[in-house]
Amino acid sequence: MDIALVGIGKIARDQHVPAIRESADWRLAATVSRSGTVDGVPAYDDMQEMLGDNPGIRVVSLCMPPVPRFAYARQALLAGRHVMLEKPPGAGLAECYALADIARAQGLSLYATWHSRRADMVPAAKAWLADKTLRRLQITWKEDVRRWHPGQDWIWQAGGMGVFDPGINALSILSEILPEPVHVQTATLEVPENCQTPIAARMGFWHPTAEVGAEFDFRQEGEQIWQIEAETDEGRMCLSDGGARLAIDGVPGGDAAPLGGEYPRLYDDMARLVSAGGCDMDLAPLRHVADAFMLGERIIVEAFHD
Ligand code: NAP
Repeated sequence: MDIALVGIGKIARDQHVPAIRESADWRLAATVSRSGTVDGVPAYDDMQEMLGDNPGIRVVSLCMPPVPRFAYARQALLAGRHVMLEKPPGAGLAECYALADIARAQGLSLYATWHSRRADMVPAAKAWLADKTLRRLQITWKEDVRRWHPGQDWIWQAGGMGVFDPGINALSILSEILPEPVHVQTATLEVPENCQTPIAARMGFWHPTAEVGAEFDFRQEGEQIWQIEAETDEGRMCLSDGGARLAIDGVPGGDAAPLGGEYPRLYDDMARLVSAGGCDMDLAPLRHVADAFMLGERIIVEAFHD
């Protein structure tokens, strides 16, 4: 199937372009970006023009930051195209519901991707937890924003989510691997005095049997930590490296999911979704972030300069 990629920036170049190129299901037939292009691929800087010129492109994958994404997604759906959304699927919940309504009314597929759910060991972690009683779970997601998000001013503006931009990856894994849903009860947001979004956050979740918490920090230097530790009545699990590694009671193990890599798996999912029909719009991770912003205590901390 022909696909168009919109918003040619860091994640489009690092992951989407290689995943599409390596897939037998997809051909990158056009890009839309105000400044970015991909060698050998027809480039547009206007979405409507791309859609008008290319009736054969049935699927559009959107890779820009969350705030501008809704307008592009709506345009693509109204033009009769299936849509794949980078995470988070929107800057707010209501726009995601609105897109899902349009997709259903148009009989189109809409896929809210959560790339971390497609990390190697996430299915093994989910399978291990399925029949255990959880006693404690702690998410630690600490990375150096200057290293991973250089010059990305949008992260610090309203709707950019700050540390929840990576933190929502952990929340997407959490809502995938736990057999029962949890919800946010408490949150603390540390917001730099010159920014609109948090540089660090802590969250506490309601769970029927366990103490569940999360700690996110963008100020991490040295070792980068993307880890979920769980204690159950039958042992301990540690999912680390953003879901790439699993250890049970300290012993590494678990079978990796088939197909190499998070993004090849997402594009495989999208191919199946389009051929089967329907939408995949799980908004649980975004709900947790929305609740953290709604319930969270704000602490103003020192200014951040990139
Ligand atoms: P980015 O490089 O800062 O932005 C991606 C592209 O979006 C830009 O190159 C820009 O292309 C376009 N864009 C930016 N602002 C826009 C606007 N107001 N209107 C229209 N287009 C705009 O960001 P990114 O790191 O690729 O992240 C994009 C999305 O992918 C985010 O939702 C992020 O959470 C997700 N993501 C990022 C990573 C990562 O490692 N960076 C990993 C996984 C997921 P033009 O200026 O050429 O139009």
